[in-house]
This record gives sequence, structure tokens and C-alpha cells, in this order.
Amino acid sequence: MTVLDAVVVGGGPSGLAAALWLARYRRRVVVVDSGEHRNRWVDQAHGYLGADPFHPPDLLERACADVDAYPEASRRPGRVTAAVRNDDGTFTLSLEGEPDVLRAKRVVLATGVGDVFPEVERFFDFYGADVFHCPTCDGYEAKGKDVVALGWSEEVTGFALTLLGWASSVTIVTDGRGFEGDEACRRQLVANGVRVLEDEAVAFMGERGAMEGVRLRGGEVLRCAMAFFSIAHRFHAELADQLGCARTSEGCVQVDHEGCTSVPGVYAAGDLVPGLHLVQVAAAKGTVAGVACARSLRGEGGMPEEWEGAVAGYTGPMTQQQDEAAARQDLDHLGEEIDEVRERVAHEQGEKGPRFIDEGALSEDQPVDDTIAPPG
Ligand SMILES: Cc1cc2nc3c(=O)[nH]c(=O)nc-3n(C[C@H](O)[C@H](O)[C@H](O)COP(=O)(O)OP(=O)(O)OC[C@H]3O[C@@H](n4cnc5c(N)ncnc54)[C@H](O)[C@@H]3O)c2cc1C
Repeated sequence: MTVLDAVVVGGGPSGLAAALWLARYRRRVVVVDSGEHRNRWVDQAHGYLGADPFHPPDLLERACADVDAYPEASRRPGRVTAAVRNDDGTFTLSLEGEPDVLRAKRVVLATGVGDVFPEVERFFDFYGADVFHCPTCDGYEAKGKDVVALGWSEEVTGFALTLLGWASSVTIVTDGRGFEGDEACRRQLVANGVRVLEDEAVAFMGERGAMEGVRLRGGEVLRCAMAFFSIAHRFHAELADQLGCARTSEGCVQVDHEGCTSVPGVYAAGDLVPGLHLVQVAAAKGTVAGVACARSLRGEGGMPEEWEGAVAGYTGPMTQQQDEAAARQDLDHLGEEIDEVRERVAHEQGEKGPRFIDEGALSEDQPVDDTIAPPG
């Protein structure tokens, strides 16, 4: 069975970025994606440099086309249901409903997170147009508008106050539960004009793109043009757990500055790991993990099989030792060239012999030529 260089699980911005860079390092990589991108409901996402605003499916389509342009990379729809690290350090991944498995030297987990949604009638008629969960992503669109914040935990205090940076008014609706913030939270909210309604939001009113309000259990309609919710999200970390990757206290998959998890050969990126949940950040984390993953394979055959022997002068990827030896040779050549220049200058100036520094010991016979920097 072919052992791939890497399998990337998840084809959102982070997984595609990782795959792109693995391919650019000429690594055979397969991206498996179940197509449940976190922002698939969103009409317009924001803040991606050079494409602000953007329709998320359009950006993904362009990203897929970028990856598809590399013969080293391929994408397949599907869900990875199990991942095992074999004794030889390779990985075996099983796909839902498929008899065959994938084997790879490395795995990049880019499976993202799933949001917990409020149970409000017509939620999906409005989600991604008038209803959002992230003030950083969509707070700007709340500028000058009346906004409802759905949530009951202590955290909804900061959430509501953040929204006030854009909105003209914010009202918290606790979904019929008791507000969990303490007196200090309540005081802060009152001081900033934020009302807390311990009532249940039953339905959103109006049309997508033109929200009119939220109907409460008692029948009252709370006028608002946008709603934000702060409930919870769940990390898609089942595969990370199967492989034994450590998680942070928040539940993210723990990685170092190169996207390496606690399990050798397993990388992780995107919303699954600590950091901001933004498309640009996800793509950047995927880039870091993809490059690190590719570099970790240095010295292991990476060209597509059909290229071996077909590319003139190609004798397989350099090993690290070969690479270092080549670098040393380059330095030696540089030293020789500098000596030659010195000799020529000395000759042109009618001096007796070559000028050089010998371990820092200078003498009248060996004057220092300070017009040429000595090697080292
Ligand atoms: C409503 C909303 C609005 C947003 N607005 C913005 C915005 O304006 N600007 C911005 O920058 N960000 C925005 N975001 C955040 C942005 O969507 C995420 O930060 C980004 O999608 C994270 O990328 P990712 O690749 O980590 O995960 P995702 O894009 O979620 O991709 C993960 C992929 O992995 C797949 N997957 C999961 N498990 C498996 C498995 N076992 N096998 C195979 N495939 C699997 C999923 O199906 C999915 O396709 C928004 C998010 C939401 C929900």
C-alpha cells in the first residue's frame, strides 16, 4: 500500500493552507474533508486581507483550485473516523463507509470546531446574515444598530460590553434561565445601559438580511436589527484524542510554535488549536503546520513516484547531512575567492606577499587589509 507523505484531515482554510505548502515542498498529500465548514451559513465574512468582504464558499473554491493545481496534492470528500499511530511511526486512517484506509507518514488535523446554537425558531433563516456568534468577525456590521445578545453565563457580560463598541444598544436575553453573572457583572451592565431580560427568546422576526426583532416567551417583541449568541463551541478533537494528543484546559489541541502536537508526526492547525478564530489566522496556522510538517520529512523520499528517474539530475531529496556538506563547500569556495582577491590587491599594490589575519596575530610582515572583510 502507498504510504503518503501526509494526510490532512479537514479542508477548511487551515487544512487547505497546510496541504498547499506540503505540495509546494513536493510532498504527496491527501486532504479529506467532510464539508461542514464552520462558516458555511455566512453570506459575507470579513477581514481577510485582499478579499474583504468575501463569500466563504468563493474563497474556499479558489483555495481548492490553488491546491488542485499541484500534482502532489489531491482532495477527497469523506469523514475520517479513526486514526491510529502504527509501531513504525506511520499512521492509518479509516474513512466512514469506505473499506480502504489511508496510510501516511504524517497527519495534519484541521478539523475545526462546531458551535452550539440557541434553540430559537427560524434561527437558520437569519444565521450568517443577521445572527452571529463572534463580535470580532461581525461586530462592525452592528454599527449604530440595536442588538440582542443571547446568553446567560458570566461571560455574556464582556460579550455585551464588547458589542457596545459598535451597537447603539445591547439587551441580554438569557433564554429563560437565571443570569449567572455576579453583582459586579450586573453593576457593570447597568452602568453601561445594558438591560438583562431573564426571558426566553422564542423566534426571530422579519426576513433574512432585514431582521426586525426577537419574540419573547411572553409575546413581547424586542426590536433589534442583529443578534449575537454566546453559548459554547465544541472542538472536533475526536481524532486528536484517539491519537493521544494533549489538549489545553480550554479543550484546544495543544501545539508548539510550529503546529506540532504532543504526538510525534501529528500536526494541528486552525480553530482546533489555541488562538483567534478567524479565516486569515486559520490559513496562517495551516501554513505554519504545513511547512513544519514538510520540513520534518526532509531526507525522506518525497517526489511523486512517477517523477523518479524522469527528471534530469534528480537523485532524490537531499538529506540534512548532504545539505550541510553542500553549505560547508559553499563556504570553502567563498574563502578561496576572498584569498584570491586579497592576493590580487596585494600584487597590484606592489606588496610582498598576501595579507591575512592569522588567528588574530598581526605583525609588520602581515599587515591587515581592512578593505576586505575576512571570512568568519
Ligand atoms: C457565523 C460565523 C461567522 C464567521 N465570520 C468570520 C469572519 O467574518 N471573518 C473571519 O475571519 N472568520 C469568520 N469566522 C470564523 C471562521 O469561519 C473560522 O475561523 C475558520 O473557518 C476556521 O477554519 P478551519 O480550517 O480551522 O475550520 P473549518 O473552516 O471549520 O474547516 C474544518 C473542516 O474540517 C472538516 N472535518 C471535521 N472533522 C472531520 C473529519 N473527521 N474528517 C474529515 N473532515 C473533517 C469539517 O467538515 C470542515 O470542513 C466565522 C465563523 C462563523 C461560524
